[in-house]
Amino acid sequence: MSEPIHTVYLLLGSNLGDRISTLRHAREAISDEVGPILLYSALYETAAWGVTHQPSFLNQVLKVLTPFGADEVLKMTQRIEQHLGRVRREKWGSRVIDIDILYFDSETFQSEHLTIPHPFLHERRFTLVPLAEIAPSYLHPVLKKTSRQLLEECRDELEVVKLV
Ligand code: ATP
Ligand code: CA
Ligand code: CA
Repeated sequence: MSEPIHTVYLLLGSNLGDRISTLRHAREAISDEVGPILLYSALYETAAWGVTHQPSFLNQVLKVLTPFGADEVLKMTQRIEQHLGRVRREKWGSRVIDIDILYFDSETFQSEHLTIPHPFLHERRFTLVPLAEIAPSYLHPVLKKTSRQLLEECRDELEVVKLV
């Protein structure tokens, strides 16, 4: 019997080193290990959120197909973060690469290690802008709103600038 296929939306972020090349390496590793990337957003630049005295971030959202479960995808993306040189220091501090799971099918899930949908997704323009670019009508399974609606209602004021 073949494995069920899941649709997962991932958020990539980088604010240290060669950000564009790191994001490319992350996409390559994700498509090799997690599964094919069906859609990807443009790159967007945003000032750091939460801990503000640090370099600005580049972010990108990917739509990926995977035969793996959410737990396994989390382990894989954390391993990819490590391979690309992420060092964990302060919460919300600078990092070479961050890979967050935004949505996993229409599942809701909460454990010590994993919350799906991502708990801050609707509070961050740097997440909603690229998400609304590639999945404007996708319904948040808890808030029951589309990406476009969440973006319209988002109070985050950090400017999100599309890289050309
Ligand atoms: P934030 O979650 O606010 O974006 P962060 O990405 O800086 O913060 P990290 O240090 O990368 O936080 O991750 C902390 C922990 O968050 C991870 O060890 C992971 O177990 C947990 N986590 C919970 N839900 C998710 C999710 N949806 N995607 C990725 N990690 C998650
Ligand atoms: Ca994050
Ligand atoms: Ca993270």
